[in-house]
Amino acid sequence: MRTRYDAVILGGGPAGLATALSLKNHCPDIAVLVAEAGVAGRQRIGESAPPDLLLPLGQLGLTARFRADGHAPCPGSASLWGGDRVGHNDFLYNPMGPAWRLDRRRFDAMLVAAAETAGVTVVFDAAFRRVEVMPDLGHRLMLDVAGTTRAVETRQVVDATGPEARFARALGVERRVDDTLYALAAFLPLPGILTWQTLLEATPDGWWYAARLPDEQVVVMMVTDQAGLRRLRDDGTLPSWRRGLAATALIGPRLAAAGVDPGAGDAEPALLPIQSSLLARVDGPGWLAVGDAAASYDPVAAQGVYKALVDGVAAGRDVARGCGAALPPPPRPRAALVAERYADYCLNRAYLYGLETRWPDALFWRERQRRAALARPGASSDGAPTRVMTD
Ligand SMILES: Cc1cc2nc3c(=O)[nH]c(=O)nc-3n(C[C@H](O)[C@H](O)[C@H](O)COP(=O)(O)OP(=O)(O)OC[C@H]3O[C@@H](n4cnc5c(N)ncnc54)[C@H](O)[C@@H]3O)c2cc1C
Repeated sequence: MRTRYDAVILGGGPAGLATALSLKNHCPDIAVLVAEAGVAGRQRIGESAPPDLLLPLGQLGLTARFRADGHAPCPGSASLWGGDRVGHNDFLYNPMGPAWRLDRRRFDAMLVAAAETAGVTVVFDAAFRRVEVMPDLGHRLMLDVAGTTRAVETRQVVDATGPEARFARALGVERRVDDTLYALAAFLPLPGILTWQTLLEATPDGWWYAARLPDEQVVVMMVTDQAGLRRLRDDGTLPSWRRGLAATALIGPRLAAAGVDPGAGDAEPALLPIQSSLLARVDGPGWLAVGDAAASYDPVAAQGVYKALVDGVAAGRDVARGCGAALPPPPRPRAALVAERYADYCLNRAYLYGLETRWPDALFWRERQRRAALARPGASSDGAPTRVMTD
């Protein structure tokens, strides 16, 4: 690792790595560091991707590698949502073809390998801790690399640290949080045959999701709010999670028919926060935020990985311009696109959560619908759900 890079990308998720690749496509000779806090090869959540994923993959030159990597086509979804009959949503007539069920380990390894082949230095166990602004010279970043503090200087910083937006928040940039939910997710062995459709089911306390994975596992996830999480914990998280799954009308029986044992292993399902949130400013002098660091979505949208790549492609071009590449200006500034896409997402989410009216007294759905109504453009901010997060 050097002490100075032309660009430093904090966070080695899909957004950070797509930014690095896009940047290197335009500026092959510059020195780029990706500093990732986690370890290499860990299992990440986020396996359902829309057919359009092929577009940014094509822009990054990764289509052939992606197609050879054994990700599974996903024909659509089967859901119990807003009614007692199973609804189907499929991609039969989508010109881009089916959606995708990703093998995240292979997908992430593909992005890391492509970045390294392009000459990017990717360092794991390297967490951003602090920043010093050096007027006219850029930023000095303090990184914790495998327990040792290292200082790295650069003129271009990319915050790709996910919804926590560690760098932007260290600069004091606020984040608008429109809703926070919690997922309790488990990866379970899949001994039998299960559809490749995404399974979705609303329940009074939230919703369940199950998706077959390419490596003979299934990911099963319950999504609820803080009150639902508290109730679950009061009754013992693991037994309540299993009871909740057994009580579902669609997902539990489908998993049982495929021989999935929700009691396999004693480990509690992993708890993962889910934010619908937008950074107040997604760029500034010598820095920009990309992917979930800029705007994070509820996984009901299944857009997070796709959005990370699309945003990374655009962010890479912006950084390349900052590094002197002679690229034409973008038709619309990326900041405007991030804000517009977030507004669209809020409308779609409001529509989806508004469809579920079977439990008018259920606090989870009442609260989602109230917040969704307030997130609509032009809604009054009285009693607004929005929480502003600063460091
Ligand atoms: C429960 C759940 C289920 C989801 N399911 C789906 C799905 O099925 N499909 C889908 O498309 N999306 C899904 N998403 C969303 C998707 O995971 C994200 O939108 C996507 O990962 C965003 O990519 P990113 O690179 O912006 O952020 P991330 O993937 O979060 O990557 C950020 C990276 O930054 C690193 N980092 C954090 N802090 C630091 C630091 N201080 N220094 C250095 N590195 C740091 C982290 O270790 C991480 O690797 C889901 C999200 C959740 C929470």
